[in-house]
Amino acid sequence: LSDFERVVGKSWVFTSEDDLALYRDAYSPLWGETDERLAAAAVAPGSVEEVQEIVRIAARRVVPLYPISTGRNLGYGGSAPVLSGSVILDLKRMNRIIEVDEDNAFALVEPGVSYFDLYRYIREKNLRLWIDVPDPGWGSPIGNALEHGGGWTLNPFRDHFGAHCGMEVVLANGDLLRTGMGAIAGSRTWQQNRYGVGPYVDGLFTQSNFGIVTKMGFWLYPQPQAFRSGEILALHRDDVHEFVRITAELANAGIVNSAVMIRSPFLHAGLRDEQTAAVLVETEHGTAGTWDRLARDRGLASWATTVQFYGPPAVIAAQWGHVQERFAAIKQIEFRDGPAYRFPLSQAEAETVPDKSALGIPSLSIFAMGARSENYPSPADGHLSFSPVIPMTGKALLEAHRVFSAAVREWDIEPLGFGAGFCMYPRSFVFLFTLPLSRDGGTNRKARAFFRHLITLAAQHGWGEYRAHPVFMEEVMGVYSFNDHALRRFHQMLKDALDPEGILAAGRYGIWPKHLRNKRV
Ligand code: ADP
Repeated sequence: LSDFERVVGKSWVFTSEDDLALYRDAYSPLWGETDERLAAAAVAPGSVEEVQEIVRIAARRVVPLYPISTGRNLGYGGSAPVLSGSVILDLKRMNRIIEVDEDNAFALVEPGVSYFDLYRYIREKNLRLWIDVPDPGWGSPIGNALEHGGGWTLNPFRDHFGAHCGMEVVLANGDLLRTGMGAIAGSRTWQQNRYGVGPYVDGLFTQSNFGIVTKMGFWLYPQPQAFRSGEILALHRDDVHEFVRITAELANAGIVNSAVMIRSPFLHAGLRDEQTAAVLVETEHGTAGTWDRLARDRGLASWATTVQFYGPPAVIAAQWGHVQERFAAIKQIEFRDGPAYRFPLSQAEAETVPDKSALGIPSLSIFAMGARSENYPSPADGHLSFSPVIPMTGKALLEAHRVFSAAVREWDIEPLGFGAGFCMYPRSFVFLFTLPLSRDGGTNRKARAFFRHLITLAAQHGWGEYRAHPVFMEEVMGVYSFNDHALRRFHQMLKDALDPEGILAAGRYGIWPKHLRNKRV
């Protein structure tokens, strides 16, 4: 600790209980239990050189470090380490927006830059650029991209790692690496060409523990002239197949270019009632009659989605028109026009639009989910997201609803959110499923056991998660087991080569340093 203090100054090394409490995972499924993942200390460098110095000290003394950007990854670990006793390497102070280029539409930022920071910078300078933000927008482009986070606007911007271009990384030996064109001395296209030459290594630094990312470039979306959205509703259970097929084709062709979420208002309303459960079972046996009758009686659509269009007014009107033409192949399909905007929005408009994330405006309104309300008098203390990737087909969407709702009933669980295929990245769905957490151990113990059950259940159907909470990283990676865990063995090979002392983010995504590995696997 005194070595760290010599590098960053006494005031940037934290050891008091009060300070360390800020690095606890507020949504920890192990909250208050003996094996809650806790930091031993935290150190906050102000520059890349200081990061390098800290890493060299940690390697010399074999001190486990856990780098975070802004540490707001709630639901997936917050600021807490995977291995208790790690020292949090808090990069929040490194918060420079190094460059935003309007003509080539990119930004180069440090880890402490939040979505709010970048959004405000662009607004204040009146740049004609948009960012894509996750829900919620208080995290950082770097932290979110490294976790494969995503947002709501167009492809490719909403896949935050997919929209990055160029990285700077401090390695475990203190060396400094720039990827892509950044490896050229005096490079002038670091944020414009992502590959440079030779093996493409950027992916190695996501969901891993192979390096500390100190800069990252992101492609931005040139501000569109207009936005419009539309809702599409289908009445019948078996419409799901055409509904998803048409959506997928339009998305793959770039005509629907926004994130789409295909949900079932009927299932959502009746997740825990006997009749809905019965029709879900019936789904497996083939008849659609009861489902359709119940949905009709309840006045609910079987399937629904919202599509969003960005661009010149004439172009997006044509896109929406074409989408309606295609979906008209489904009997009794219904279309509703949604909100429409012209840009730029005034400051007041930007602050009051309801669906901020669809317009790349950061917000914290997602925290209303599960908050105290008349209908929800005792809110959860946190949540846990189970997010398996399933095929973008009607068959898979029905199957996932059936399999997971049966599990919910069998375990008598009240999910915070359940159901819907979210096309966050193109070509597949993430099935949305959120469990409430509590500050009482009993609820959390059950949630943990259920979560582990879900990982295995999903794997039996060929589904795996896109992201994991530290408490479950090992199990989630464990089902990515092709050829006797060849992928994990490869990760371990890299770990041993890049970080032989095992000082960086031990245990992240199931990658343990050698000296801890045998105790665990
Ligand atoms: P956000 O800034 O969006 O809140 P976090 O800082 O919580 O994101 O980052 C999520 C996870 O990604 C962290 O727990 C950490 O394991 C990893 N991570 C974040 N930033 C870095 C970084 N700059 N270098 C290496 N790993 C990082």
